Amino acid sequence: MAVGRRSVLRTGALAAVCLAAPAVAPPAGVAAPPEAGTPELALSRLKAGNDRWVADRATRPDVGAARRVQLAGGQEPFAVVFSCIDSRVPPELVFDQGLGDLMVVRTAAHTHDALVVGSLEYGPAELATPLVVVLGHQNCGAVTAAVECLREGRRLPGHLADIVHDLRRPYDEARRQGVAPGQLVEATIRAQTRQTVAALRGDRLLSPLVAAGRLRVVGAYYRLDTGEVTFSD
Ligand SMILES: [Zn+2]
Repeated sequence: MAVGRRSVLRTGALAAVCLAAPAVAPPAGVAAPPEAGTPELALSRLKAGNDRWVADRATRPDVGAARRVQLAGGQEPFAVVFSCIDSRVPPELVFDQGLGDLMVVRTAAHTHDALVVGSLEYGPAELATPLVVVLGHQNCGAVTAAVECLREGRRLPGHLADIVHDLRRPYDEARRQGVAPGQLVEATIRAQTRQTVAALRGDRLLSPLVAAGRLRVVGAYYRLDTGEVTFSD
């Protein structure tokens, strides 16, 4: 795949620059800026983009024709975002990122089966993408419907039943927490994100990358009203 070669070339160029430049230690008490291509830099780019979105100062970076042409030969997305299908949570807008920046996988309440996990593995395994963000959100309709069905023993038609089935584990975890009935949906949303992060960190293909420090998998939560994303580890 040509893209992998581009990554190698870029890494090589960076290494040459690093070797040529004298090492300058940051002043005491000041953290060094994260290195290009690291999970930390990817995370800081997402946080900066979300800050712009929250402040209503989104810049819509890199969405013009020149960038489109530049990317035609290959892609190097710096993060994978796994989020809900909810129309109010579009990752490129929420993180104020442009064309080629994010690889986005979306399913209802970020439920997943083997095919979905394969799509999530693709960026880190094939393109050296250093960050996976699992993004849950406030007032998730899929989780709300699933909680109602599970509580009342109802079955939804078609493959909607599969979504409910997949959300039973986070629902059970939320129930074990003994939260008030009015908090059950919110607790299930949080549990679903935690369980998805744990599953991806333990994934056969992703866990060696996590262990080597080449990949971080983090949970996040989007507030529909403020636009703010909070990250958790
Ligand atoms: Zn949702």
